Amino acid sequence: MEPLIEAKNVTKIYSRGSEKVIALNKINFQVMPNELVIIMGPSGSGKSTLLHLLGGLDTPTEGQILFKGEDITQWNEKKYTEYRRNHVGFIFQSWELIENLTAIENIEVPLYPTKIPSDEIRARAMRLLRQVDLYEREHHFPSQLSGGEQQRVGIARALITEPSLLLADEPTGNLDSATGDIIMRMLKKLTRGGTGTVVATHDESLRRYADRVVRFLDGEIVT
Ligand code: ADP
Ligand code: MG
Repeated sequence: MEPLIEAKNVTKIYSRGSEKVIALNKINFQVMPNELVIIMGPSGSGKSTLLHLLGGLDTPTEGQILFKGEDITQWNEKKYTEYRRNHVGFIFQSWELIENLTAIENIEVPLYPTKIPSDEIRARAMRLLRQVDLYEREHHFPSQLSGGEQQRVGIARALITEPSLLLADEPTGNLDSATGDIIMRMLKKLTRGGTGTVVATHDESLRRYADRVVRFLDGEIVT
Protein backbone atom coordinates (compact mmCIF):
# COMPACT_ATOMS: atom_id res chain seq x y z
CA MET A 1 0.00 0.00 0.00
CA GLU A 2 1.24 3.51 -0.85
CA PRO A 3 1.62 6.10 1.93
CA LEU A 4 -1.00 8.83 1.91
CA ILE A 5 1.67 11.40 2.67
CA GLU A 6 5.39 11.16 3.01
CA ALA A 7 8.20 13.55 3.95
CA LYS A 8 11.50 12.52 2.41
CA ASN A 9 14.76 13.96 3.72
CA VAL A 10 12.98 17.15 4.69
CA THR A 11 14.90 20.06 6.14
CA LYS A 12 13.34 23.36 7.15
CA ILE A 13 15.52 26.31 8.05
CA TYR A 14 14.04 29.59 9.24
CA SER A 15 16.01 32.81 9.13
CA ARG A 16 15.59 35.10 12.10
CA GLY A 17 17.60 38.17 11.19
CA SER A 18 21.12 36.86 10.64
CA GLU A 19 20.43 33.81 12.80
CA LYS A 20 19.36 30.54 11.20
CA VAL A 21 17.06 28.09 12.99
CA ILE A 22 17.07 24.48 11.82
CA ALA A 23 13.47 23.55 12.65
CA LEU A 24 13.63 20.17 10.88
CA ASN A 25 16.80 18.28 10.04
CA LYS A 26 16.51 15.61 7.30
CA ILE A 27 13.22 14.16 8.45
CA ASN A 28 11.74 10.98 6.97
CA PHE A 29 8.13 10.46 7.92
CA GLN A 30 5.07 8.78 6.46
CA VAL A 31 1.40 8.22 7.12
CA MET A 32 -0.75 5.47 5.64
CA PRO A 33 -4.48 5.81 4.94
CA ASN A 34 -6.50 4.85 8.05
CA GLU A 35 -3.50 5.48 10.28
CA LEU A 36 -3.35 7.84 13.25
CA VAL A 37 0.21 8.95 13.93
CA ILE A 38 1.09 11.03 16.96
CA ILE A 39 4.12 13.30 16.79
CA MET A 40 5.33 13.64 20.36
CA GLY A 41 7.97 16.10 21.40
CA PRO A 42 8.75 19.10 23.59
CA SER A 43 7.96 22.66 22.60
CA GLY A 44 10.25 23.85 19.82
CA SER A 45 11.08 20.36 18.51
CA GLY A 46 9.58 20.99 15.05
CA LYS A 47 6.12 19.41 15.32
CA SER A 48 4.12 22.37 14.01
CA THR A 49 6.67 22.97 11.28
CA LEU A 50 6.18 19.44 9.96
CA LEU A 51 2.38 19.77 10.02
CA HIS A 52 2.63 23.04 8.05
CA LEU A 53 4.82 21.40 5.43
CA LEU A 54 2.56 18.32 5.14
CA GLY A 55 -0.48 20.57 4.79
CA GLY A 56 1.03 22.80 2.13
CA LEU A 57 1.06 25.92 4.34
CA ASP A 58 4.80 26.28 3.88
CA THR A 59 7.54 24.72 1.73
CA PRO A 60 10.64 22.84 2.89
CA THR A 61 14.13 24.24 2.45
CA GLU A 62 15.21 20.84 1.19
CA GLY A 63 13.56 17.49 0.51
CA GLN A 64 10.27 16.26 -0.87
CA ILE A 65 6.69 16.07 0.39
CA LEU A 66 4.85 13.33 -1.48
CA PHE A 67 1.04 13.25 -1.41
CA LYS A 68 -0.19 9.98 -2.93
CA GLY A 69 3.21 9.75 -4.59
CA GLU A 70 3.23 13.27 -6.07
CA ASP A 71 5.84 15.77 -4.94
CA ILE A 72 3.78 18.76 -3.83
CA THR A 73 6.87 20.99 -3.51
CA GLN A 74 6.97 21.09 -7.32
CA TRP A 75 3.45 22.48 -7.55
CA ASN A 76 2.52 26.07 -8.39
CA GLU A 77 0.55 28.31 -6.04
CA LYS A 78 -2.78 27.37 -7.64
CA LYS A 79 -2.25 23.63 -7.09
CA TYR A 80 -1.10 24.29 -3.52
CA THR A 81 -4.28 26.22 -2.79
CA GLU A 82 -6.38 23.46 -4.31
CA TYR A 83 -4.52 20.88 -2.23
CA ARG A 84 -5.09 22.79 1.02
CA ARG A 85 -8.74 23.34 0.19
CA ASN A 86 -9.66 19.87 -1.05
CA HIS A 87 -7.38 17.35 0.56
CA VAL A 88 -6.27 18.70 3.94
CA GLY A 89 -8.22 19.36 7.12
CA PHE A 90 -6.50 21.44 9.80
CA ILE A 91 -7.45 21.35 13.47
CA PHE A 92 -5.71 23.84 15.72
CA GLN A 93 -5.37 24.24 19.46
CA SER A 94 -7.02 27.62 19.34
CA TRP A 95 -10.03 26.69 17.25
CA GLU A 96 -10.34 30.18 15.84
CA LEU A 97 -14.04 30.08 15.16
CA ILE A 98 -15.68 33.16 13.70
CA GLU A 99 -17.44 34.83 16.62
CA ASN A 100 -20.43 36.26 14.77
CA LEU A 101 -21.26 33.05 12.92
CA THR A 102 -23.27 30.22 14.48
CA ALA A 103 -21.87 26.71 14.96
CA ILE A 104 -23.43 25.43 11.76
CA GLU A 105 -22.22 28.44 9.76
CA ASN A 106 -18.69 28.05 11.11
CA ILE A 107 -18.68 24.48 9.85
CA GLU A 108 -19.87 25.61 6.42
CA VAL A 109 -17.28 28.37 5.92
CA PRO A 110 -14.67 26.34 3.98
CA LEU A 111 -17.29 25.57 1.32
CA TYR A 112 -18.53 29.14 0.83
CA PRO A 113 -15.94 29.87 -1.92
CA THR A 114 -17.02 26.75 -3.86
CA LYS A 115 -19.81 26.22 -6.37
CA ILE A 116 -21.57 23.68 -4.15
CA PRO A 117 -25.24 24.75 -3.70
CA SER A 118 -26.06 26.15 -0.26
CA ASP A 119 -28.66 23.49 0.58
CA GLU A 120 -26.09 20.79 -0.11
CA ILE A 121 -23.57 22.65 2.09
CA ARG A 122 -26.16 22.85 4.89
CA ALA A 123 -26.94 19.14 4.58
CA ARG A 124 -23.28 18.23 4.83
CA ALA A 125 -22.74 20.54 7.81
CA MET A 126 -25.75 19.05 9.61
CA ARG A 127 -24.40 15.52 9.09
CA LEU A 128 -21.07 16.59 10.57
CA LEU A 129 -22.71 18.39 13.46
CA ARG A 130 -24.42 15.12 14.35
CA GLN A 131 -21.18 13.21 13.91
CA VAL A 132 -19.44 15.38 16.50
CA ASP A 133 -22.46 15.13 18.84
CA LEU A 134 -23.48 18.78 18.62
CA TYR A 135 -26.84 18.37 16.97
CA GLU A 136 -28.77 20.67 19.30
CA ARG A 137 -26.03 23.35 19.26
CA GLU A 138 -26.64 24.30 15.64
CA HIS A 139 -27.59 27.94 16.22
CA HIS A 140 -25.25 28.66 19.14
CA PHE A 141 -22.50 31.19 18.72
CA PRO A 142 -18.94 30.23 19.74
CA SER A 143 -19.19 32.29 22.96
CA GLN A 144 -22.17 30.13 23.96
CA LEU A 145 -20.21 26.89 23.60
CA SER A 146 -17.79 25.18 25.99
CA GLY A 147 -14.15 24.66 24.98
CA GLY A 148 -14.77 21.04 24.03
CA GLU A 149 -17.83 21.98 22.00
CA GLN A 150 -15.88 24.67 20.16
CA GLN A 151 -13.14 22.18 19.37
CA ARG A 152 -15.76 19.77 17.99
CA VAL A 153 -17.05 22.56 15.74
CA GLY A 154 -13.42 23.05 14.66
CA ILE A 155 -13.18 19.35 13.81
CA ALA A 156 -16.43 19.38 11.85
CA ARG A 157 -15.22 22.46 9.97
CA ALA A 158 -11.97 20.67 9.09
CA LEU A 159 -13.97 17.73 7.76
CA ILE A 160 -16.49 19.47 5.56
CA THR A 161 -14.27 19.36 2.49
CA GLU A 162 -13.94 15.58 3.04
CA PRO A 163 -10.14 15.71 3.34
CA SER A 164 -8.05 12.57 3.09
CA LEU A 165 -5.40 14.05 5.40
CA LEU A 166 -6.27 15.40 8.83
CA LEU A 167 -3.65 17.47 10.67
CA ALA A 168 -4.22 18.36 14.30
CA ASP A 169 -1.82 20.65 16.16
CA GLU A 170 -2.17 20.23 19.94
CA PRO A 171 -5.92 19.61 19.52
CA THR A 172 -6.43 18.97 23.23
CA GLY A 173 -4.11 21.73 24.43
CA ASN A 174 -6.85 23.97 25.78
CA LEU A 175 -9.07 21.22 27.17
CA ASP A 176 -9.40 19.29 30.42
CA SER A 177 -8.36 15.65 30.12
CA ALA A 178 -11.90 14.19 29.96
CA THR A 179 -12.78 16.52 27.10
CA GLY A 180 -9.44 15.81 25.48
CA ASP A 181 -10.30 12.10 25.54
CA ILE A 182 -13.57 12.76 23.73
CA ILE A 183 -11.70 14.70 21.03
CA MET A 184 -9.07 11.99 20.60
CA ARG A 185 -11.68 9.23 20.40
CA MET A 186 -13.41 11.25 17.72
CA LEU A 187 -10.19 11.67 15.73
CA LYS A 188 -9.55 7.95 16.05
CA LYS A 189 -12.99 7.11 14.71
CA LEU A 190 -12.60 9.54 11.81
CA THR A 191 -9.28 7.94 10.94
CA ARG A 192 -10.96 4.55 10.76
CA GLY A 193 -13.43 6.16 8.38
CA GLY A 194 -10.66 6.55 5.80
CA THR A 195 -8.43 9.55 6.52
CA GLY A 196 -4.79 9.60 7.50
CA THR A 197 -4.37 11.62 10.68
CA VAL A 198 -1.37 13.32 12.27
CA VAL A 199 -1.67 14.71 15.78
CA ALA A 200 1.13 16.84 17.21
CA THR A 201 1.24 16.97 21.00
CA HIS A 202 3.52 17.07 24.01
CA ASP A 203 0.91 15.24 26.12
CA GLU A 204 2.16 11.70 26.84
CA SER A 205 -1.28 10.57 27.97
CA LEU A 206 -2.52 10.71 24.36
CA ARG A 207 -0.17 7.89 23.33
CA ARG A 208 -2.86 5.27 23.77
CA TYR A 209 -4.84 6.65 20.84
CA ALA A 210 -1.99 6.32 18.35
CA ASP A 211 -1.40 3.56 15.84
CA ARG A 212 2.18 4.81 15.87
CA VAL A 213 4.12 7.36 17.92
CA VAL A 214 6.99 9.30 16.37
CA ARG A 215 9.25 11.21 18.74
CA PHE A 216 10.79 14.54 17.86
CA LEU A 217 13.70 16.26 19.53
CA ASP A 218 15.44 19.37 18.20
CA GLY A 219 14.09 18.90 14.68
CA GLU A 220 15.02 15.24 14.46
CA ILE A 221 13.13 11.98 14.83
CA VAL A 222 14.57 10.08 17.77
CA THR A 223 12.47 6.89 17.58
P1 ADP B 1 6.86 22.77 18.09
O1 ADP B 1 5.59 22.81 17.32
O2 ADP B 1 7.38 21.38 18.33
O3 ADP B 1 6.78 23.54 19.37
P2 ADP B 1 7.89 24.46 15.98
O4 ADP B 1 7.79 23.65 14.73
O5 ADP B 1 6.85 25.48 16.19
O6 ADP B 1 8.01 23.47 17.21
O7 ADP B 1 9.30 25.20 16.01
C1 ADP B 1 10.53 24.57 15.73
C2 ADP B 1 11.65 25.60 15.79
O8 ADP B 1 11.51 26.51 14.69
C3 ADP B 1 11.64 26.47 17.03
O9 ADP B 1 12.97 26.74 17.37
C4 ADP B 1 10.93 27.72 16.59
O10 ADP B 1 11.33 28.83 17.35
C5 ADP B 1 11.36 27.83 15.15
N1 ADP B 1 10.36 28.50 14.29
C6 ADP B 1 9.11 28.06 14.04
N2 ADP B 1 8.45 28.88 13.19
C7 ADP B 1 9.33 29.89 12.91
C8 ADP B 1 9.27 31.05 12.06
N3 ADP B 1 8.17 31.34 11.37
N4 ADP B 1 10.36 31.84 12.02
C9 ADP B 1 11.48 31.55 12.71
N5 ADP B 1 11.60 30.46 13.51
C10 ADP B 1 10.55 29.64 13.61
MG1 MG C 1 3.76 23.61 17.90
